[in-house]
Amino acid sequence: MPDKKHANHILSGLKDLYPDPHHYLAFEGPFQLLVATILSAQCTDERVNEVTRDLFNRFPGPSDFAGADISVIEEAVRPTGFFRNKAKAIQGASAAIIERHNGEVPDTMEELIKLPGLARKSVNAVLQHGFSKVEGIVVDTHVIRLAGRLGWTENTKPEKIEEDLMELFDRSEWRWIPFYLKNHGRAVCKSRKPACGECTLAELCPSAFISPQGKAKKKRKWYWQLPIFWLS
Ligand code: SF4
Repeated sequence: MPDKKHANHILSGLKDLYPDPHHYLAFEGPFQLLVATILSAQCTDERVNEVTRDLFNRFPGPSDFAGADISVIEEAVRPTGFFRNKAKAIQGASAAIIERHNGEVPDTMEELIKLPGLARKSVNAVLQHGFSKVEGIVVDTHVIRLAGRLGWTENTKPEKIEEDLMELFDRSEWRWIPFYLKNHGRAVCKSRKPACGECTLAELCPSAFISPQGKAKKKRKWYWQLPIFWLS
């Protein structure tokens, strides 16, 4: 297990770098947040905000989505990608909210996770930013990548990564950890080419100057150093 003190030292560095934590999706109330969160899968926050600006005027609440022709929703959310699945999830969740919760988004992990189209990551986001309830950590693609590079976890499955991070950090930190990692992932620690030379965390980071490509090269080098009779 990674060292808690070291991990919290890195987190302090991230907080200094990105001192203004906030949510990037535009929404009013838990229902809009739920819809925006579904749309944000594999899509940038900026694109989601462009789409929801019009979408929330046309479909103000769960009953509007539940009663709509699915093809109309699909067309409206098409720019966010995976539009058929997303439209289905939004309509399914809307119908369930009406049938089981009198049109109000439930505010517990147990109920939210039963809504169609919502995985634990989305449920955490809705709870934290819609109800100010922090029960876990949102593990998105940036969290997966950076938590691994920073040595906070050796796991690759989101649920396991979340458990590791919850063990390392106080609950008071859970809400904004994804914000810090997303910002650092976008600005410096990019997926294909982390800019370790420009990274103020390099002295603390166990992956500094070991690019993903570098790792691959190392593996190939090791392979080619084997005696030829081992390879035949
Ligand atoms: S040192 Fe490199 S790998 Fe580590 S956080 Fe910075 S950019 Fe990412």
